[in-house]
Amino acid sequence: MKKYQAILLLLIAGLALPASGQSKKASNYQYTVDLTHVVDDKVKVELLAPRISSSEITFYLPKIVPGTYAIADYGRYVADFNALDKKGKALPVEKINDNAWKIKNATRLHKITYWVNDSYDTEIDGPKIFEHAGTNIEENKNYLINSAGYFGYFENMKESPIVLNVIRSKDFYGSTGLIPQKAGEPVTSIKIEKGSAASDQRVDTYVAGDYSELIDSPLMYSKPDTAIIKVGNTEVLIGSYSPTQMIKAKDIANSVREVLLAQKEYLGGNLPVNKYAFIFYFTDKPVYSYGALEHSGSSFYFMPERPIEEMNQQLRDFAAHEFFHIVTPLTIHSEEIDNFDYNDPKMSQHLWLYEGVTEYFAGNMQVKYGLITPDQYLDVVREKILTAETFYDTVPFTDISKFTLTEYKEQYYNVYQKGALIGMCLDIKLRQLSEGKYGLQNLVADLSKKYGKAKPFEDAKLFDEITALTKPEIGEFLKKYVSGPERLPLKEIFGLVGVKYIEKFISPELTLGLESNAVTITEEGGTPKLAIAKADLLNAQGKALGFKDGDILIKINGEVIPYNDQFKAFFERQQQGLQLGKKLSYTVLRKNEGGTAQEAELSADTMMVDREVKHLLGFDDQATPAQLALRQSWINK
Ligand SMILES: [Zn+2]
Repeated sequence: MKKYQAILLLLIAGLALPASGQSKKASNYQYTVDLTHVVDDKVKVELLAPRISSSEITFYLPKIVPGTYAIADYGRYVADFNALDKKGKALPVEKINDNAWKIKNATRLHKITYWVNDSYDTEIDGPKIFEHAGTNIEENKNYLINSAGYFGYFENMKESPIVLNVIRSKDFYGSTGLIPQKAGEPVTSIKIEKGSAASDQRVDTYVAGDYSELIDSPLMYSKPDTAIIKVGNTEVLIGSYSPTQMIKAKDIANSVREVLLAQKEYLGGNLPVNKYAFIFYFTDKPVYSYGALEHSGSSFYFMPERPIEEMNQQLRDFAAHEFFHIVTPLTIHSEEIDNFDYNDPKMSQHLWLYEGVTEYFAGNMQVKYGLITPDQYLDVVREKILTAETFYDTVPFTDISKFTLTEYKEQYYNVYQKGALIGMCLDIKLRQLSEGKYGLQNLVADLSKKYGKAKPFEDAKLFDEITALTKPEIGEFLKKYVSGPERLPLKEIFGLVGVKYIEKFISPELTLGLESNAVTITEEGGTPKLAIAKADLLNAQGKALGFKDGDILIKINGEVIPYNDQFKAFFERQQQGLQLGKKLSYTVLRKNEGGTAQEAELSADTMMVDREVKHLLGFDDQATPAQLALRQSWINK
């Protein structure tokens, strides 16, 4: 079906690229973006518009895109918007909001032109766009086309095919999950109305079946650094941009290859795509957060540039997570996601499935296929329990999901924590009820058969569907712990697989005085730094030091805190160096009454602090054969 569509579209594309200046209006969109001509950090986008039959039409850039669960307002980055008729005469345009332009006399519309600024280095009022959904224009270095930041759609016309021409310099390469219809053609092969093409310009032409396919297909242009991995019948492209060339695509390929092979087995022996692209952008600038975004045929990663040895595990975790999104939500999803409204989005209740189960699979697959040890896996699970604890635990997770753009925006990160724990509990419960034969992998495979890319489920009916496919106990579980307010029954669930779980105990320890829920990250001098957010949550050592809210940490015991890749090692060394009866000191930046930041010295005797050690997990040596059998089916141990 897909292939057929591509051939058909190629024909349409061929027809629509006018050989002469004739004004035969097409039913498709024809975008051209010129990456070889950057002016004031902006590039120009031209759209030969499809035929418009109404006298007025609204042109939109997205407010939000699928998978991000956060408002982006991409239209903010568009400048010099012009709607032109055939003769190049401007049509009246009214800007309605950040993302919408109303065009009058729209039946005469021939072309739209505008300039796009990038989200990576442009200060603009409004929400911050996470880099993995953002856009980058770094002249002669890197161009990241997350399509939502460059290309728009006309109201009620999201279904039309889109031809995309990318003009690039001849030594650049476009990493994308899209298969180009033409690549590296001379620019004269597309009609350029003004100016002449330079000899080192080339054009790549892509066709997307509709607007959502375009949005689902990021492209990154830079000097090529690529690698290919064959996984079964799937060709996997790794495209990388590392500004100091610290990381090479082939290193990434070596790192993620065995993960992908294990994922193929985990998914039943076949990958559901023919081509897949991992697109990596590494930054050598300090970062506050980084991440990745999934698409049907690719995923895009924004990550700090560090030596590959330090990044391996994280790369693998990220790649595994994004790749598993091929299943949820890209194959199994609700109507809200299927018919995604880019400018008036409706959220689904099932982030536990889209993000939680995906995250659970990414970890469970790694232990099942021996990429991490069972003990390492318990650490992964423990970390999730600890982090989940900093979020709401008695609001139904379906509500957190439904209102993730509004009321529960701050709770979003918990989809990777509690969401994954829901996945784990459900998996173990399913296995218990089937004597180890039917787990979450089987359930997800069954849901994929029943639904699919083009067949969404009804949000409110999913739990009934799952119950029908499984057992009544599973329905009760989902109602109680996912759409109900009850805490997950971790002790009971771990008990089923012979894992001992201690919720908490008290242990006297020497500490640096900082508790993770009392500190935050702030910017100081262009660098992210650790600051005290809630001094009242510090332990007795921290209180004795006399920290105040807003203090930015500069030195410990006279040593400057390295806010770079040495950060973790520095703190570990300081922790190990603690000795009872010795002084512990900090230098902090503290604002005085006038609001100016000044260095302040804090010092106190080290002391034993009763610390709560929480959520300890360990394999039970005395597990029964039944527990061992279930454990085997859960993690292959
Ligand atoms: Zn995800």
